[in-house]
Amino acid sequence: MLQDVERVLISEAEMQKRIREMGAQISQDYEGKDLVVVGILKGAALFCSDLFRSITIPVELDFMRISSYGASTKSTGVHRVLLDLDYSLEDKHVLIVEDIVDTGLTIKFLLGYLGQRHPASLRTATLLDKPSRRKPEAAVPIDYRGFEVPDEFVCGNGLDYAEKYRNLRDIVILKPSVYSK
Ligand code: 5GP
Repeated sequence: MLQDVERVLISEAEMQKRIREMGAQISQDYEGKDLVVVGILKGAALFCSDLFRSITIPVELDFMRISSYGASTKSTGVHRVLLDLDYSLEDKHVLIVEDIVDTGLTIKFLLGYLGQRHPASLRTATLLDKPSRRKPEAAVPIDYRGFEVPDEFVCGNGLDYAEKYRNLRDIVILKPSVYSK
């Protein structure tokens, strides 16, 4: 697996430091509020669990899974809910946790979908943000951002290519040869 890595973009240590800062900020911002963290499977599972443990106020955890990329690296633009939340969001402060915001279409869809459930507030957190790829119609607000990344396909810490490489500890760029296999 490591032989497929071209270079490390963000190291595990750098990432963990930033996630702790994000957790501290979120804890401060939601002090005294009924907070629910909604992690988006599968990509955000690892980031979400680290972020969740960095939050020091009472907080609930739930997960959603929606259809996104297949084995390709291009967004389909079509979203289907494969796993929905267990509990009502009525009057709760909801924080959507994503691995990466690319075109913005997924976050836009989620904001619309979860917004219909009458949460007290709805905000977004992402480990990575690729602003150069954002579609104008999906210029959604990102409230908590770990790192900005260039327009390159990245893997590691939950992010996959064809379901592999999620277990890499750093955020990496793979060798071009991986994609022609
Ligand atoms: P968007 O809807 O913003 O275009 O894409 C969001 C989803 O696309 C992410 O949750 C992630 O699953 C996938 N994605 C976008 N860019 C990348 C990338 O560089 N690497 C990986 N592994 N997935 C990506």
